[in-house]
Amino acid sequence: MDAEIIAVGSELLTPHHTDTNSLFLTDKLNQVGIEVRLKTIVGDDRERLASVFRAALGRSKLIILTGGLGPTEDDLNREVVAQVLALPLREVPEIRLRLERVFKRLGRTMSENNLRQAQIPEGAVGLENQNGTAPGIWIEHEGVIVLLLPGPPRELEPMFESACLPRLISLAVGDRIRTRVLKVVGLPESEVDQRIAPIYKPYANPATTILAVSGSIEVHLRAHAASEEAADALLAELADKIELDLGDHVFSAHGETLEEVVGMFLGMKEKTLAVAESCTGGLLAERLTRAPGSSNFFLGGALCYSDALKTRLAGVAPKLLEEHGAVSKPVARAMAEGIRKNTGAAIGVGITGIAGPDGGTPEKPVGLVFVSLADERGTQVREFRFPGDRARVRLWATQAALEIIRRRVRS
Ligand code: AMP
Ligand code: MG
Repeated sequence: MDAEIIAVGSELLTPHHTDTNSLFLTDKLNQVGIEVRLKTIVGDDRERLASVFRAALGRSKLIILTGGLGPTEDDLNREVVAQVLALPLREVPEIRLRLERVFKRLGRTMSENNLRQAQIPEGAVGLENQNGTAPGIWIEHEGVIVLLLPGPPRELEPMFESACLPRLISLAVGDRIRTRVLKVVGLPESEVDQRIAPIYKPYANPATTILAVSGSIEVHLRAHAASEEAADALLAELADKIELDLGDHVFSAHGETLEEVVGMFLGMKEKTLAVAESCTGGLLAERLTRAPGSSNFFLGGALCYSDALKTRLAGVAPKLLEEHGAVSKPVARAMAEGIRKNTGAAIGVGITGIAGPDGGTPEKPVGLVFVSLADERGTQVREFRFPGDRARVRLWATQAALEIIRRRVRS
């Protein structure tokens, strides 16, 4: 079964409010095998809402509207849906009683407007709202299910889980969705696609999507089958072929982050790590310490932004800084070796570069970054030219460093 979501609220068309309800709903629907094929955001406008809802009726078997159930004049969902479906609105005595009780408990008087919330289209079912006054509404009409849910997430979420999902599960039997994410580092998106398109193109199920996400490329696979096991088997077949082709560029086949994978390898090999960071300002250390348990391998490091601290904390010889400049191969090397020596770590890593937007020269442009790794087998230094703004250069620098550590520790 497929679903369509209509998020209603003029605030959702401003830069200040995001429609998060549809993300929650999509997640829950996917878990029971229902795909969301279309989402619309529409303001509190009778005509536009009616036209969006009419269009939805012509193409979807499950339509979920969120918001627009409040007591105020701009809350139109109940009326518009009833009108388009040509169903009269009827007051439900139990809902009215419940509203009256809630208002009494709160010590407030109920206005005529609030009474609108006791009305639901003929033949529909009211859904209890545990955290607010507006009941939800479940309508089954000529083979289409229409759900009206309140806008506030703390009202919508428990209502959807307790009153809607169980009924939807029984309607969506025989369809399960499972997903796998392969994460790739060290190849551009276009090359990943060029290499694996011949592998995934013949498969309609699983469906494959490739995205660039903060420093890595992700290959998302999504399979439909009658059971979770069958869907997983479909995923495994395609994932194995893709992994085989991309080889060790795939650093994660089950959603782990690069820093988690690096931490896992370091822990397994019982190697300790210390870092000396300049242009990344501690971002590498921050990423390495995101996962609990990082104290098993991560000793710490030096944030040596100034030349003086590169010397004092990472033992970089002043002569090197004078001769080559702070952003240079020899200084990166000295930072990695120096922090390793000063901390007694098995592996030392140094990062120095120009994150921009200022400070670039023709010989040393913005985006130039040197990453060095020193261990008992020697020291390696790599030069990178990262495109993009300051945040991107810093992110990519840490990504490159993590990848260098991963390759060194894994081998
Ligand atoms: P309403 O039921 O339309 O009066 O919505 C009440 C409140 O719910 C709004 O002011 C928003 O804060 C929130 N809300 C409405 N729609 C959404 C949505 N799609 N995603 C997240 N929050 C929402
Ligand atoms: Mg609203």
